[in-house]
Amino acid sequence: MKKTEGTQQKDTPHDILTRYMTEQGGMRKTPERYAILDVVMKMKGHHSADQILDMMPETFHVSRATMYSTLTLLVKCGLLYNHQTEGATLYECAYKVPAHHHYICTGCNKIWDLKDSSIERAASKAKTPRFKKMKCSTYIYGLCNICQAKLARLKKKLEQEKKRQDATMTREEKRFAQIGRELSMAAEWFK
Ligand SMILES: [Zn+2]
Ligand SMILES: [Zn+2]
Repeated sequence: MKKTEGTQQKDTPHDILTRYMTEQGGMRKTPERYAILDVVMKMKGHHSADQILDMMPETFHVSRATMYSTLTLLVKCGLLYNHQTEGATLYECAYKVPAHHHYICTGCNKIWDLKDSSIERAASKAKTPRFKKMKCSTYIYGLCNICQAKLARLKKKLEQEKKRQDATMTREEKRFAQIGRELSMAAEWFK
């Protein structure tokens, strides 16, 4: 990865947010926005808007609407990463954190950082005609071991009750049955 440290890196998250809002013109620099910024700059890992709401100090009342609009703002000014899972958008501190890769469980929507430099090497070699590469961020989708076990239990259950109609399956069972079908299709080319 190329060094990205420039003069900008000396700026604090507050400086970056303030400058972005000034450049946009007419954005109100409310204490709520800075309070949310302080919380997300301290968080480790990947969290949903609701989880971040729970992290807010009790003295600070922040509405869900303010939370969503501020998180979007922080993504735009490069202080947060957002990751789309099936269940929710998850946010991660991006301040002094280089773009990186993730793997996501489609069963429980858990997300992990993927530490594997071979993806960077492949991306830097990849030919992109008339296109200047900036960064590379990859998502690998699959099933964690807990959800694999869940799927195996479901398969067993369905085999035991062959006559059971689709209509009697719960929503979660249907979702896992679908994941099972996708997984066996994927297994043919993803080995
Ligand atoms: Zn899982
Ligand atoms: Zn991450």
